[in-house]
Amino acid sequence: MAFRNLGLSEDTLKAVEDSGYTEPTPIQEQAIPVVLMGRDVLGCAQTGTGKTAGFTLPMIDMLATGRARARMPRSLILEPTRELAAQVSENFERYGKYSRLTTALLIGGESFVDQEKALGRGVDVLIATPGRLIDLFERGRILLSDVKVLVIDEADRMLDMGFIPDIERIVGLLPRKRQTLFFSATMPPEIRKLADGFLTEPKEIAVTPPASPAETVDQQLALVHRDDKRAALREILRIEDIENGLIFCNRKRDVDILVKSLTKHGFEASALHGDMPQFRRTDTLDRFRSGELRLLVASDVAARGLDIPRVSHVLNFDVPIHAEDYVHRIGRTGRAGRAGTAITIAEPEDALHTRKIEKLIGRDVPRRALETVEAANWDDEPRRRRRRSSPPEREPAAKETTRRRTPARTGQERSRRAAPAAEPPRQDTAFGEHIPAFLLRANPDAQSA
Ligand code: AMP
Repeated sequence: MAFRNLGLSEDTLKAVEDSGYTEPTPIQEQAIPVVLMGRDVLGCAQTGTGKTAGFTLPMIDMLATGRARARMPRSLILEPTRELAAQVSENFERYGKYSRLTTALLIGGESFVDQEKALGRGVDVLIATPGRLIDLFERGRILLSDVKVLVIDEADRMLDMGFIPDIERIVGLLPRKRQTLFFSATMPPEIRKLADGFLTEPKEIAVTPPASPAETVDQQLALVHRDDKRAALREILRIEDIENGLIFCNRKRDVDILVKSLTKHGFEASALHGDMPQFRRTDTLDRFRSGELRLLVASDVAARGLDIPRVSHVLNFDVPIHAEDYVHRIGRTGRAGRAGTAITIAEPEDALHTRKIEKLIGRDVPRRALETVEAANWDDEPRRRRRRSSPPEREPAAKETTRRRTPARTGQERSRRAAPAAEPPRQDTAFGEHIPAFLLRANPDAQSA
């Protein structure tokens, strides 16, 4: 199908052509005509599928007629992070270059004064993170009663980050008669319930995520003891022929610790996380994209949705807690048929999460032996209860939450396992055997916009 058949205006088609797109992606093909008809959409699609243009292109045409009044935006797009909000804003600039739409970006870390000024001039498209929008609403700087189109993007990420109460509050401030476009990479029951409450007879569109990572990615897993993870990373950085590498940590605080450690050992690396001022994040990303910066240490939330076209290596300093994040992370290398390498550094307590990843991708990740770092086994006891064979590194190890002791295993249980341990280590909580998902994740506020 050609873009021309989707019902977009000539101006928008021209902007699409200028972007170099020859044909719509599946989500665009399905979403654009439905959005143009004014229908609600429930889209199950993740970043990388072209979903942003799936809603920005038709919105540009729908908002082409009419004018925004001061402090009363005509459409609202909610994004979980500043980066995603900024990318949506760039999309409007790129695709709306032949239209006269006005847009404003309301994100944390930027001046209130500038954002209030922009709102005062009247905006057709308001792109916001929930916290900043509520702040401005509470200061009486914005009225949401004129919003005709609402987009809730990355709803499952919003849930992870604890934004759902904010979203519910914001939706309560909007007119009931509106068009709502709701996107989420996954549809757990909480998200489905939320969508049911916000949408009216939506058209459901699902685009299958790439469950199996690109065949061009060489995946490896180095299993070491926790205290040895940094030494393992350094060996990998020295041995591998790394043109540019993205190093992922699960927690934002570990991103900074790791950058300090790498710098101390003579590697030039920069951090990318939610607490950095916007200008520094943009600058860091630009340096990474241009090749000036070779190593970027990031958390999932900060890196999500970033369009970094060429990465030779993805290094998982931590095994991601959510198997889908593994696919997202390693999908940043091996793009467009290029070869790429993804190396995960795991410790024995990552057994359960590694098993989930291997289940999702449908195969075991080949083990990688290191030369200078002792290999661990999945059923090794945590190191603090092992006798040390070498002195610990002086740098502080990443702080972990207290874990319940894994019961001692019998010899039979030990030998059974070439793959992950049978029982996962659990955290001590007051929830009995059930550990709510949010407790197993990084502190959401720490990453929020
Ligand atoms: P998204 O999933 O919206 O984050 O888009 C992922 C990437 O795909 C972005 O770099 C877009 O510029 C690009 N893109 C979006 N639509 C198309 C298309 N129809 N053809 C080629 N690339 C596209």
